[in-house]
Amino acid sequence: MRNKHATQLIFELSRAGRSAVSLPTADVPQQPVDQLIPERFLARTAPQLPEVSEPEIVRHYANLSTLNMSVDTHFYPLGSCTMKYNPKRNERLASIAGVVDVHPYQSESSLQGLLRIFFELQQMLEEISGLDAVSLQPAAGAHGELTALMVAAAYFREIGDNRTKVLSPDSAHGTNPASARMCGFDTVTVKSTSDGFVDRDDLISKLDESVAVLMITNPNTLGLFERGIAEIADEVHSRGGLIYLDGANMNAILGITRPGDFGADMMHFNPHKTFSGPHGGGGPGAGPIAVAEKLTPYLPVPRVARLETEEGYTYRLDWGQPRSIGRVRSFFGNCGVLVRAYCYLLTHGPDGLRSVSENAVLNANYLLSRVKHFLPVPQGDRCMHEFVASAAQLKSDTGISAMDMAKRLLDYGFHAPTVYFPLTVREAVMVEPTETESKEMLDKFAETLFRVTEEAADLLHDAPHTTLISRPDEVTAARKPKLRWQPSAED
Ligand SMILES: *Cc1c(COP(=O)(O)O)cnc(C)c1O
Repeated sequence: MRNKHATQLIFELSRAGRSAVSLPTADVPQQPVDQLIPERFLARTAPQLPEVSEPEIVRHYANLSTLNMSVDTHFYPLGSCTMKYNPKRNERLASIAGVVDVHPYQSESSLQGLLRIFFELQQMLEEISGLDAVSLQPAAGAHGELTALMVAAAYFREIGDNRTKVLSPDSAHGTNPASARMCGFDTVTVKSTSDGFVDRDDLISKLDESVAVLMITNPNTLGLFERGIAEIADEVHSRGGLIYLDGANMNAILGITRPGDFGADMMHFNPHKTFSGPHGGGGPGAGPIAVAEKLTPYLPVPRVARLETEEGYTYRLDWGQPRSIGRVRSFFGNCGVLVRAYCYLLTHGPDGLRSVSENAVLNANYLLSRVKHFLPVPQGDRCMHEFVASAAQLKSDTGISAMDMAKRLLDYGFHAPTVYFPLTVREAVMVEPTETESKEMLDKFAETLFRVTEEAADLLHDAPHTTLISRPDEVTAARKPKLRWQPSAED
């Protein structure tokens, strides 16, 4: 019965006449409101707003803010989503006046600082990707996928090649085929082998002259580096297709290998994952894309460009790209997320980024080595920055499902791992600890996960037990979530 008052609506706290402000009596003549505001804009009745005191407002929202889990309050091993710690310095830097107090309609000459940040961020992402040009415009990873596919479609249109298909592995994130469909392509699924890699025979059998793009995630969503990635890219390229790299898993390979080097023609970054922007409930994302030289003319406009003058560099917005697909986002993209990414990248530098990935991989492998003894990890003994365990055997032996485990972990103060993704693993439990967790935390998590597998199934089917709202019924959505706190007359 934690924080039960936080379940009251602010309207229920309201008492007529109560207020959070007390203003002095006006010492200037008052203007009748209908002389200031045209009649048609005036409401007939005052809006019904809650009437509460200042401490009531503060407590209400402060309490609400404690009902959720966050990276700042809990270990958050949500696989694929890379919920790494968000350094507070980046928050400070992203809120300095030159970043937050500017308006996108200001003149370019008065936005030089911000444009420089964007230009340099583009350069850094080019270097990390091993590709030739970057657009910061897309607003999220999925939007980056769509934008890059639009770039690919424009490229094929221009060379007069009428390709209609996009291939993606069955372990891909759902946004991959969804983006392809939104862009007007037909999607074809490529199978995975039982050990979790792209099935090369299945791929080759589906590769023909109608395939525009193979969308591939590497490391893939099972946390495995596709061993044959360069050969796969060669196969696709030799038939005139392009390789799209879903960059959501870049946290495993920063400064170690580059998508451009293993055959990608285009990719997106998830700065809110890889470069530590707060996301999920904590903030918006961004989805910069990087592309190879031949795709550069089709990138969205405006592009952030740099000119060398006698006084030094000036930065400007370049609209002069006749073959561009046009705008995909208002103004420059999600500025705050991009600035945080820039700060993160500058803070770490090339060697620091490499050690971020090395530690992410080390932490995941340490956890894997502890977890595999009680929860099988079907695709192996080693992983990159995340691994996928399976509760399938546990479920058939004891009735405990991946969902039960995920819900029960909340009772122990852990955010749940990702469950039931990727679709290729039954009862999938996808764990991504990230590089910023200590050995003690990883041990505690492994021990808790083990403890959960030993508990009574009945207890788990109803978990979580200590949170404000217990398990919403995901099977019959019509059934209401069970509230632990029921409003009563005294409340
Ligand atoms: C998160 C994710 C995406 C989509 O990125 P968003 O920024 O959430 O739109 C795509 N692919 C994979 C593998 C992901 O984990």
